[in-house]
Amino acid sequence: MSSDRASAGLFTPSWLCPRPVDRSRLFELDEQLGSHGNIAQVLIPLSLVLSSMWLGPWALLPLIFPVPLFVAMPWLIRHVRQPEWLLLAGVLGLGATLAVSIAMTGGVRSPLVPWAVFIWPGISARFPRRAGALIAAVIGVLMTVACILAPPRPPAPTPAVVVCLIAALVTTAYYTGVLSRAEHDQRAAATFDQLTGLLTRAALARRFDDLRREAVQHQWPLSLLVCDVDHFKRVNDTWGHDRGDAVLRATAAALERGARSSDLLCRFGGEEFVLVLPGAPACEAAEVAERLRLAVAGAQPAGLPVTASFGVSCAYGTDIDFAVLFRTADAALYRAKSAGRDQVMVGADHGAAGTDTARAW
Ligand code: GH3
Ligand code: MG
Ligand code: MG
Repeated sequence: MSSDRASAGLFTPSWLCPRPVDRSRLFELDEQLGSHGNIAQVLIPLSLVLSSMWLGPWALLPLIFPVPLFVAMPWLIRHVRQPEWLLLAGVLGLGATLAVSIAMTGGVRSPLVPWAVFIWPGISARFPRRAGALIAAVIGVLMTVACILAPPRPPAPTPAVVVCLIAALVTTAYYTGVLSRAEHDQRAAATFDQLTGLLTRAALARRFDDLRREAVQHQWPLSLLVCDVDHFKRVNDTWGHDRGDAVLRATAAALERGARSSDLLCRFGGEEFVLVLPGAPACEAAEVAERLRLAVAGAQPAGLPVTASFGVSCAYGTDIDFAVLFRTADAALYRAKSAGRDQVMVGADHGAAGTDTARAW
C-alpha cells in the first residue's frame, strides 16, 4: 500500500504529492474501489461499446488508453515508486480522449457529455487542491474546445443518449457513495479509539473548547481527572498483550459507567484516561474520582486484580486552560503513584505543574 511505503521511509516527494498524506489520499479512492466489484470498470466500457453502435468507432477512443490504465491502477499503486504521475496521465488521458470522442460524436449534443461530468468527483477526491484545480482547468478547456470545434452531425439517437446518461449517473453515484463511506470511516477513526470506543485525544481537544466557552460564559468550574492503570506493564508482561487489551477495554467500560453523560471521557494514550467534568468543583470531581477508583478495582478488569490511580484538577471561568489543567492533574497523579498507587490526589485550583499542593483524597 502507498501509505505503508510512506511510513517505511520510502516516500519520495513530488510536485503532485509533497507530503506522504497527499499520496495516501491520492490512491485512497482506488484502494477503496479495488480491482474487483468496481462497477465503473464494467459500466464505462459497456456504455461506450453500446453507444458506438449508434455513434460509430469514435465512442470507443477512451477504451484504448485510460480505461486499461485505471483497471491496472490498484496493482500499479503497489509497484511503482511515484504512481501519482501514472494517475495524472490516466486522468489527463481520459479527459483528452473523451474530448476527442465528444467532438467527433456531436460536440455539446454528444451522448458522451455526461462522462465528462463523471471525471470531477475523481479529481477532487484524489489530487491536492492546487493540482486538482489545474487539472480541472486543463480538462475544462479540452472539453470546451471539443464542443466548439465539433463538426456538425445529425442529432444522436435517443438510445445512445439514454445509455450514456444512465451509466454515467450510476457510476457517479457509486463513486460518491464509496467516497462518503470512506470519509465516514475516517471521521469515526479520528473521533473514537478503536480499542475502547472512547473519544480519542484529538476529539477531546476539539470538544474541550466548547466546554471551556460554556464555563467562561456561565462562570462555571471545570474539573479534569487523569486516570492511569497501575503496574499495567506487569499485566502485559505476565498475561500477554491481548489480556492487557482486555483490561483496557474493561477499565474504559467501568469509567464510562461511572461518568455522567455530560462528561467527556477519552483514552488519552496507552493505559491513561482523561475525564472532563463541566460544572464540577474540585471536591465533587474528587468524589467522582474516588467512585471511579472503587469501580475499576471492583470490576476486576479481564478477571485481574487491577487498580488505577487518579489525579484531579479544577479551574474556573477564564482561568480554564487544558494544558494547565492537565499538568496539574498529572502532577497530582504522579503523587498518587509515589504514595503507593490505587488512590486519588487533588491538585490545587489553577495550579501549575510541580506545585507541591496536591493532597490525598
Ligand atoms: P505505573 O503504575 O507507574 O503507571 O506503571 P505502568 O506499568 O502502568 O506504566 P508504564 O508506563 O511503565 O507501562 C505502560 C505500559 O502500557 C507500557 C505499554 O507497553 C503498555 N501499553 C500501551 N498501550 C497499550 C495497548 O494499547 N495495549 C496494551 N496491551 N498495552 C499497552
Ligand atoms: Mg500505568
Ligand atoms: Mg501511564
